[in-house]
Amino acid sequence: MQNIGWIGTGIMGKSMCARLIDAGYTISVYTRTKNKARELIGAGAVWCDSPKAVAERSECTFTMVGSPQDVRAVVLGDFGVLAGARSKSVIVDMSTSQPALAEQIAGAAAGKDVAALDAPVSGGDVGARNGTLAIMCGGDPKAYETVLPLFECMGENIALLGGPGRGQHTKMCNQILVVSTVLGTVEALLYAQKAGLSADHVIQVVGSGAASSWSINNLGPRIAAGDYAPGFRIRHFIKDMGIALDEAKRLQLSLPGLALAHELYKAASAQGLENLGTQGLYKVLAELNGLPS
Ligand code: NAP
Repeated sequence: MQNIGWIGTGIMGKSMCARLIDAGYTISVYTRTKNKARELIGAGAVWCDSPKAVAERSECTFTMVGSPQDVRAVVLGDFGVLAGARSKSVIVDMSTSQPALAEQIAGAAAGKDVAALDAPVSGGDVGARNGTLAIMCGGDPKAYETVLPLFECMGENIALLGGPGRGQHTKMCNQILVVSTVLGTVEALLYAQKAGLSADHVIQVVGSGAASSWSINNLGPRIAAGDYAPGFRIRHFIKDMGIALDEAKRLQLSLPGLALAHELYKAASAQGLENLGTQGLYKVLAELNGLPS
């Protein structure tokens, strides 16, 4: 595979696509706001006017958009990837989306002799830039093997977890875990502030012990610096928690920690903070406690 398509060049997609360009692949690109693809076009990517036009030029087309509605539009819409996909090509959705939608896409693609993989990621903006993402894949093993060299440009820990939708289910496990570590990071640093400790010193010490997590080591320093810019937007986090809660309901599973975090983040969104990074919850809880943020 040499001709690769890329749809969605936000925080994650831009860095992931850039890594494929650096590796020498020929890239066709589309995203909703063309300006956000400017650097990729400058680096050699060819701009196309729709996801369909991208797919017509590509042996493998990646999508990295926002919500399940966005995935549905760019893959299954009239001018979507599937409308232009060549026979024997592969569609890979790397957005965090619904398992059932991944299954629907794989079914629709099979009807056109196209393979579809769901391959959501973990590792944040830092992992996307450095090519160190974890990639959780669901779908056909042959298609997975074909796409693996491309995944290897973007990630380090890459696995096929089963058929269509299994990548998204695994990502839900990831998000359920992340919810706890982000909330723990926010509360630990609130405690540090109130107790008169240096947040940086606390992060340095606890970040390598039993309480170590990606959240304390990556989001902790951002909170300490008052940096609430998005690596991962609150609105996407709320979307992910909603998907996980829907799936849990379907499985008749009670996940009270996840439900509590969902409520807290909905409050952050109601305060107009939905485009801050997930560490922005610190602002909400700091205000509740009468502390600066
Ligand atoms: P983002 O910055 O919001 O980027 C999403 C991009 O997709 C935006 O550029 C958006 O266009 C584009 N898009 C949305 N709908 C589209 C459509 N219908 N047609 C064309 N382009 C469309 O989000 P992100 O942080 O890169 O995250 C992307 C996905 O990865 C999400 O599903 C997220 O949950 C997941 N994820 C994110 C992280 C993270 O740390 N950021 C980590 C793991 C997984 P506009 O620019 O016009 O809005």
